[in-house]
Amino acid sequence: MNVARILYGSSSNSPVPDQDADVVWFSGCTIKCPECINRRFWEPRRGAKMSVDQVVQKVLMGRSAWVSLTGGEPSEQPELVEFLKLIRAKKRKVLINTGLEYEEFISLGLLEYVDALKYGPYMAELRGGFGSLNQRMIIRAGDVFAELPYRDMKELIISNSTITETGYGTNFQ
Ligand code: SF4
Repeated sequence: MNVARILYGSSSNSPVPDQDADVVWFSGCTIKCPECINRRFWEPRRGAKMSVDQVVQKVLMGRSAWVSLTGGEPSEQPELVEFLKLIRAKKRKVLINTGLEYEEFISLGLLEYVDALKYGPYMAELRGGFGSLNQRMIIRAGDVFAELPYRDMKELIISNSTITETGYGTNFQ
């Protein structure tokens, strides 16, 4: 897997306000939305090459209820299903942030492995909401998914002398 970054204990990257998420930024994205704010994660080699077990180990160093997968495009990681199975076996809930449309994501057969999904390409002219207003976030509620409302999700995380600005709608560049 190509891992560009891991961040622990983020509230703004969680789908629900009262539970944090540990965040994995994968590198590699062929969707290439115009005006993408994460262009530095388009190139797969930008990230460290790690085995599935290595990524799982790193993620489990966090203690958050959620694991948020972003990028880059998480669905382009060939070993994603194996990773999702291992993470969910450890009782972590998974949010995938994908630039694919809902139908495109469904066709990959990945929905059964996620607890929440943010989907849709980033469209700068519709900036707002989870990034842009065409994007949606859904969360598992039993056998079905319910849509989540937009909320203010920006934060600063300070650790080891590093300040990280993160959250949906934030310009990282
Ligand atoms: S899917 Fe995400 S990383 Fe890829 S181009 Fe779109 S916004 Fe950027």
